[in-house]
Amino acid sequence: MDKEIKLTESMEDYLEMFYRIVKKQGYIRPVDLSEAIKVRPSSVTRMIRKLNDAGFITYEKYRNIALTLKGIRYGKFLVWRDETLKEFFRLVNAGAGMDEQIEGIEHYLTPATMGIIRNLILYFRAHPEMLKELAELSEQRMYPDHERLSQLRAWLLHHGP
Ligand code: MN
Repeated sequence: MDKEIKLTESMEDYLEMFYRIVKKQGYIRPVDLSEAIKVRPSSVTRMIRKLNDAGFITYEKYRNIALTLKGIRYGKFLVWRDETLKEFFRLVNAGAGMDEQIEGIEHYLTPATMGIIRNLILYFRAHPEMLKELAELSEQRMYPDHERLSQLRAWLLHHGP
């Protein structure tokens, strides 16, 4: 039996990356990881062990890593989640800094919320005139208390001007 564990944010990021590599070339060699990840090898090893214990991958030391059926199923969802969020923000013209923000929020969205976002994409694709209306709204760029969103301090403090 696999250990029932909660996937952490970085476990999800790794599994997503593993799935992308497997989709591209069918297997993962240790060298693919050292190329894709810019962290200490010891933390990569720890992550691989965690994903192995949780039943998402199988691996033997110095050998290739394979995804289990569970790993394929979940990895596919993680890639879909990432691509769906990117598509949604692109569609509504969310602007700069999106990829970095998606990296953070993706881990907190439930499948139900992802379903709503997928529906919004389908809706806007079917009704492009609504996208124009949305763009006109954001041109006003006025928010509560007539504050200009681009000047909000909390955001600037974290991300610079
Ligand atoms: Mn992430």
